[in-house]
Amino acid sequence: MSILEQFRMLIGGKPVDALSGKTFESQNPYTGESWARIPDGTAADVNAAVAAAKAAFDGEWSRMTGFARAACLRRLGDLVTANAERLARLEVNDNGKLHREMVGQLNSLSTWFHYYAGLATTIEGRQIPAPNPDYLVYTQRDPVGVVAAITPWNSPLLLMTWKLAPALAAGCTIVIKPSEHAPASTLGFAELIEQAGIPAGVVNVVTGLSREVGEHLASHPDIAKVAFTGSTATGRAVARAAADRLVPATLELGGKSPQVVFPDADLKAAANGLVAGVFAATGQTCMAGSRLICHADVHDELTRLVAERAAQIKLGDPNDPATEMGPVANAAQYEKVLGYLDQARAEGATVAYGGAAEDALGGYFVKPTVLTVKPTDTVFREEVFGPVLSAVTFTDEDEAIRLANDTPYGLAGAVWTKDVHRAHRVAGKIRAGSVWINAYRVVAPNVPFGGYKSSGLGRENGIDSLDPYLENKSVWVEL
Ligand code: NAD
Repeated sequence: MSILEQFRMLIGGKPVDALSGKTFESQNPYTGESWARIPDGTAADVNAAVAAAKAAFDGEWSRMTGFARAACLRRLGDLVTANAERLARLEVNDNGKLHREMVGQLNSLSTWFHYYAGLATTIEGRQIPAPNPDYLVYTQRDPVGVVAAITPWNSPLLLMTWKLAPALAAGCTIVIKPSEHAPASTLGFAELIEQAGIPAGVVNVVTGLSREVGEHLASHPDIAKVAFTGSTATGRAVARAAADRLVPATLELGGKSPQVVFPDADLKAAANGLVAGVFAATGQTCMAGSRLICHADVHDELTRLVAERAAQIKLGDPNDPATEMGPVANAAQYEKVLGYLDQARAEGATVAYGGAAEDALGGYFVKPTVLTVKPTDTVFREEVFGPVLSAVTFTDEDEAIRLANDTPYGLAGAVWTKDVHRAHRVAGKIRAGSVWINAYRVVAPNVPFGGYKSSGLGRENGIDSLDPYLENKSVWVEL
């Protein structure tokens, strides 16, 4: 048996084991073997982390100038870039993402830290004209306090950064709880905090196998804000816990995003966008463009092009630079995806490509799959979180918009057409937080991202994303 890499949590500036001394093992979805030993924290460890974050908030951090916090954020961004190879390896071992994609993602993460470093220096109040001349009135922005950040397994470092960077820019302190399915990269990242010159206790990371860890953190009395990314079902539980304590929660939840293709679209470009939109990260992204809503006149041609490309995708070792799609991230997710494929066939889906596991490779591999279905089919309605594209057809624009919006989700979507009027008209009518025209899956630190409807509450990224981390205080001065 190979020796397992040992990780520790970060509490109060110190690398620590769980108070119980217990650990759990993280499995590599490509080899199927355990590769890391992770502290199995409990509510007691959450209490210690929140206490450390509270002490740090009451200490120097929240009173430091924005310029001083910005310097820490810049150093942290540079450290992520300098450690991209190592952090990428940890995430690849945990969730099977492609190493080359992860290195690219980590190099881009520094732009998030640098962007929020800039924003940290812009936080300011206003002077407001007083109702009578005896008063001077101004506002002051204060950090809200200790933030609970809870993240999923599919993109732990990216989604952590979208919470951590604004929290630090605002002057908050934070307790991060990564998913039990992919905790290693967040624990590896925690090792950089001290080098960035961030005071002890400002950033804390707690791990644990039990749901209790997240539940206890989201409902802890000393938490002032919850920032959550994960499934819609868990998001509801987190929102309930936050509401009980009247604490604001930002929720980034699931998706079932439409890609609407009109007959005048550049079908080759659309096929490329569909492939990248749904098969990247083995389909395990919240913004996966998993519903193809295709004009009847081009359905056969487009699904043929997508199926051809799907057939060329090289599955294999996530660490091999030639690999284009890795395994599904864990056993439970693998079973879930295969279950959806069985159900799709039972409900009458036509398979243009894939539709089954790729057994020859070992690991949790599923073939990239292209289906044609009915709008009522389960696979078209529920978030599969796997490499499965389901196509339906439409004949006019109103029908396309109705199909695109016929979902409880509203995270993202795309319109493919050369008609500039139609492109903007349809993009304007899709009820989703991000809509791309003749493109898919572009995100940036300064562009808001988040969901309509059951895809979430609030937005991450962009100037306004600092707001949930700040209070607004009005100060009245009698002159
Ligand atoms: P999940 O909801 O099962 O878990 C997310 C996190 O919540 C984990 O850290 C988990 O331990 C924790 N948790 C579980 N129960 C909890 C509770 N009762 N209280 C507090 N925390 C609790 O999600 P997952 O399976 O890890 O991730 C996949 C889901 O995340 C998909 O639905 C996907 O669409 C969504 N997602 C959304 C975005 C976005 O930005 N909208 C991005 C990535 C993933």
